Amino acid sequence: MLRKKVAIIGIDGMYPNLLEKILRKGLMPYLSEKIRDSLHGTLKSTIPPYTPTAWTSISTGVSPVKHGIYGFFVRKSDIEVRLANASDIRYPRIWEMLSIMKKHSVVINIPLIHPFNKMIFRHGDIIITGWNSPVKAIFPSSLRSLKLLDMLAESSQEFRQISRYSPQRYIKAIEQMLEIKILAIRKLLKMGEWSLFYIILSETDWLMHKFVSLHEVANPHKFKRIFRIIDKLIAIISNNVDLTIICSDHGFKCYRRTLYVNMLLSKLGYLKVKHQSRALSKLHVLINNPLVRLLLNQPLIRKRIDGARLKIGESEVMHSIIDLRKTIAYSPEYFIIFVRRGYIKQVKESLSKVITVYEPQELYGKKNPWDPELITTNFNGTAVSSNLNRGIIASRRLFVEKVTPHHAPDGIFIAFGDIRSGGAINNISIYDIAPTVLAYLGLPTPHDTDGRVIEKIALDTNQQTNYTDKWRILRRLRAKFFKYKN
Ligand SMILES: [Zn+2]
Repeated sequence: MLRKKVAIIGIDGMYPNLLEKILRKGLMPYLSEKIRDSLHGTLKSTIPPYTPTAWTSISTGVSPVKHGIYGFFVRKSDIEVRLANASDIRYPRIWEMLSIMKKHSVVINIPLIHPFNKMIFRHGDIIITGWNSPVKAIFPSSLRSLKLLDMLAESSQEFRQISRYSPQRYIKAIEQMLEIKILAIRKLLKMGEWSLFYIILSETDWLMHKFVSLHEVANPHKFKRIFRIIDKLIAIISNNVDLTIICSDHGFKCYRRTLYVNMLLSKLGYLKVKHQSRALSKLHVLINNPLVRLLLNQPLIRKRIDGARLKIGESEVMHSIIDLRKTIAYSPEYFIIFVRRGYIKQVKESLSKVITVYEPQELYGKKNPWDPELITTNFNGTAVSSNLNRGIIASRRLFVEKVTPHHAPDGIFIAFGDIRSGGAINNISIYDIAPTVLAYLGLPTPHDTDGRVIEKIALDTNQQTNYTDKWRILRRLRAKFFKYKN
């Protein structure tokens, strides 16, 4: 039997209405044609509808309460946080399950794929870190000479840098990034004996955050070239596989106003700010000064500000502003609220009067010690922000009335190629992708997956296995013996 090949192409943040508009305008001719015979529907995101959380659910086939990832940060101790990495994931991801079954993968720009010794994969696999990784890394390191890493792994440093460009220059930069990716992908598709080609394009999420016009204008003309390039990229990848799955981690929506949840917690008396915050506010003003920014953009200085460290920096700024010893509850990042023991009920009750909040067990049936105490999400016309510099320091306002695009639950799902039947489907879950790909490749599904095999794509053979136990052992061995030099 010929080895089957699957591609999962993640288009971060893409949602049904926007895709429809793009296709109607003829901006993605290849996808327009493929979608006719495809199986397609809305893919509901996780709660919170957040990039690391949702992609980890897509990659594992389980809910956050099993995989442990609710955002870019995890609990360090008590209510303190640190940047999450691959070692914080508590469930094997699809390429790790394939690796257990002796199949190969190419994995590009998936959140939390570093450090490499905290994941399992095989000789013959290709792993390339993405924009939110603390370091740029490629496995095997012998591929470094091909410049694939530079072509594929944008660092958050580059991301920050281009986010300061004028809109026109920004769009141009994204176009160039995507063009370069195509060159690298062409090389990768020819390499090795892989069964899964898994890539996430983060650029779409950045664009959607930045441009209200992308969501509102009926003719997304400015972005024409970008969607053409993505269309080309899809065509190139899917011509090399039997089954193509295109999906997104969440959708987007334009919210009328933004609520600053840390400001709310501060007004309720649960969050305490340090006295020197006035000095820090001056620092923020300084950092936002165009001249200082210009200076920070100088190559020599820029080199020192490495990608994810900026994220760590954000949390450091936060920790230096918030008096954690006196604080009962705060939101270290979007959608996540850490609450000191004994106060959960009280904090939840007072927050519930203004925003929607859940405890993990309400959403996912149980709560682990590492889970955040409360989870919030954007609701109606309100985006919920954990931003400190605008919320607490600068404005001291609870709400800012301004149209802002931000994450929403409805993402996209499209499968085409070797599927059993096509058409619209409305009951796919974000957890179904991993078990479906496994079943399609003729492999057992995880015994405790939260998803099911989408039978219009692959037949469920009802064979199951406990990947997690095997993975735990292999990961422990790997952490001990696998040395990777960055
Ligand atoms: Zn995302």
